[in-house]
Amino acid sequence: MITPVFRFAPSPNGLLHLGHAYSALLNFAMARDAGGRFLLRIEDIDITRCTPEFEEGIYRDLSWLGLKWEMPVRRQSEHFDDYRAALEQLADAGMVYPSFMSRKEIRAYIAEAEADGKPWPRDPDGAPHFPPVDRKRTETERKRRMEDGEPFAWRLDMEAALAHLDGPVSWDEDGTGPDGETGKLPALPHDWGDVVIARKEMPASYHLSVVVDDALQGVTHVVRGRDLFHATAVHRLLQELLGLPVPRYYHHELILDENGHKLSKRRGDTAIASLRAAGTAPGDILRMVGLDHVR
Ligand code: GLU
Repeated sequence: MITPVFRFAPSPNGLLHLGHAYSALLNFAMARDAGGRFLLRIEDIDITRCTPEFEEGIYRDLSWLGLKWEMPVRRQSEHFDDYRAALEQLADAGMVYPSFMSRKEIRAYIAEAEADGKPWPRDPDGAPHFPPVDRKRTETERKRRMEDGEPFAWRLDMEAALAHLDGPVSWDEDGTGPDGETGKLPALPHDWGDVVIARKEMPASYHLSVVVDDALQGVTHVVRGRDLFHATAVHRLLQELLGLPVPRYYHHELILDENGHKLSKRRGDTAIASLRAAGTAPGDILRMVGLDHVR
């Protein structure tokens, strides 16, 4: 039997809050109960928003909670070549294109398209699908714009990508989605439109780096917040296109604030560091997130 591998993968762009504590503790407990391994991965691909101080904060908070993880920790900023190789694989198969439209241009395009009353398609997060303008540009124009130094993002050509699949794609959900979805679930990447895969200065978006890392680290069980449930469809598609192994998924509930809103890294009072400074003990945090059986 292969040893199960779990991971907690925070981004060091803010302080960890109670929701992160819950996710990390749950991963840790599930790994332990399954006789598996527990990895910590630092998702610092966006070097403009991630800082060494927040990364230090992650280690401090998780150690304080009593968690232990394997060393060395994988830091995405040290593995850009891995993501570049995956991007090239998709590019060689003709499944990505550079997109140049600015936010303003996108907004104007969609407003015009919706002017006749027909709503423009939106992704599961509510964002409008990317207009088909850049997908239709000629190679000559793309090259010229890139050589002129225009900013751009690499996008997945969703239609072209779907045409590469042998059949429908699914995943095994051990947790539940927002509507109680569980078990073997159909992946519907089409709902996302042409997602960003990388940027001019960044060799990967979250979607690309997460599937590459999960594969390279041999992750067998992805346990993460329900806010990423629908994104799993994109991850499953990329795994198929890149020929990567497929983990099982467990999407857990989110810890909400007193008004029923998702916790945010911008809100200081539920940060682990603030709770610690106010005299909260690790055991209190475990109780607060309903995981006091973990230690
Ligand atoms: N880095 C992501 C976050 O902090 C989590 C990615 C994942 O677990 O797949 O929300």
